[in-house]
Amino acid sequence: MSKNAELFSIAKRYMPGGVSSPVRAFKSVGGDPIIVERAQGCKIWDVEGKEYIDFLCSWGPIILGHAHPEVVQAVCEQAHKGLSYGLTNPHEITLATMVANLVQSIDKVRFVSSGTEAVMSAIRLARGYTGRNYVVKFEGCYHGHYDSLLVSGGSGVATFGIPGTAGVPEEMAKLTLVLPYNDSHALIETFEKYGEDIACVILEPVAGNMGVVLPEEDFLKVIAEQTKKYASLLIFDEVITGFRLSLGGAQELLGIKPDMTCLGKVLGGGMPLGAYGGKEDIMNKVSPEGPVYQAGTLSGNPLSMVAGIKTLEVLIREKPYAYLEELTQRLSDGISDLLREKGIPHRINRIGSMFTVFFTDQEVKDFQSAKSSDTQMFARFFRALLSEGVLIPPSQFEAWFLSMAHTQEDIDNALERIKKALSSL
Ligand code: PMP
Repeated sequence: MSKNAELFSIAKRYMPGGVSSPVRAFKSVGGDPIIVERAQGCKIWDVEGKEYIDFLCSWGPIILGHAHPEVVQAVCEQAHKGLSYGLTNPHEITLATMVANLVQSIDKVRFVSSGTEAVMSAIRLARGYTGRNYVVKFEGCYHGHYDSLLVSGGSGVATFGIPGTAGVPEEMAKLTLVLPYNDSHALIETFEKYGEDIACVILEPVAGNMGVVLPEEDFLKVIAEQTKKYASLLIFDEVITGFRLSLGGAQELLGIKPDMTCLGKVLGGGMPLGAYGGKEDIMNKVSPEGPVYQAGTLSGNPLSMVAGIKTLEVLIREKPYAYLEELTQRLSDGISDLLREKGIPHRINRIGSMFTVFFTDQEVKDFQSAKSSDTQMFARFFRALLSEGVLIPPSQFEAWFLSMAHTQEDIDNALERIKKALSSL
């Protein structure tokens, strides 16, 4: 038995599915998952020493590349000064200042430990602020595993085709109104019907969790207009897009300012970190300033703070966005050429350094069209790539990511490996 298989059999004995997060089990693509030993730059190695060019990038956070020396140094230096204080540290104040300066919609920010917590807390605050209960979300968007938002979720919920999830009371689910992404008409109708009771609309301004799906012209504008008209709050879940699409996130790139923003992933540079923030009068409703309670023993953790500060400092200094875009286009164009040569129907949705290869001949603009993809074909593609040493997300309904550590040479090397993988299909 290989070391990987041996470890995974022990993992399955002591952990549900052998994993700490469902999609890591590679269930929808078949075969044992890889177990990772280490990562450096754009490469990752499993416990058997096999090398992969990494386009998973830890599902988004690793925008500088793995084990970036400046981030590692900052974390090591802080570790010697203590791992957690349970009290305020100066790094929180530095990072909060940076976030407020970079993200237009944020006057004040509260740090938490994950994207799920950020979204969960933002929804509570929206309800507390407006005194209303309904939440509008979009099919195929994933906002973490918070009860109210698992309804018609993307990511792992989409991968496993789970309509809702056991353990979420119907009474909770009923307060979530689910609409198709990019359907402005459905949104207007919903506001006509429930507008006075809608606390907030939450969405990924660029979706990553049904695979990458871009907002159509006017979709975000209509949402902003409707939320304003009915005094509901607009929440952008920028857990993926924050600091990835630009320093100011998707909201800067697309020119729409939400009332609140959720952050995670890149913000922590690979350490557990999330945040939610927004206009001052909204954020002042958070405890201890206001009546909406939210807390955390490890919140503002100094290791996460210094990793986040260093990551943002490098992004501000290097401004890698044009480079990342060019590199990502080179990869996605190259893959498209290879698939076309093989006569494999596909669509690629890309923005900046994130993209998805959908195995469908339809334009993908919402969850329904994403689901027209041939997931069996995706599974074969995934395993062939893995075998050639190219790691991509183990699901059709996820985004591939690039980092600053990927070079043109790495992309050309990856395209060679993908070509070889395709010849075996
Ligand atoms: N929101 C979005 C848009 C996400 O992509 C994710 C995670 N993939 C989350 C929220 C939840 O974040 P976490 O996994 O850190 O709880």
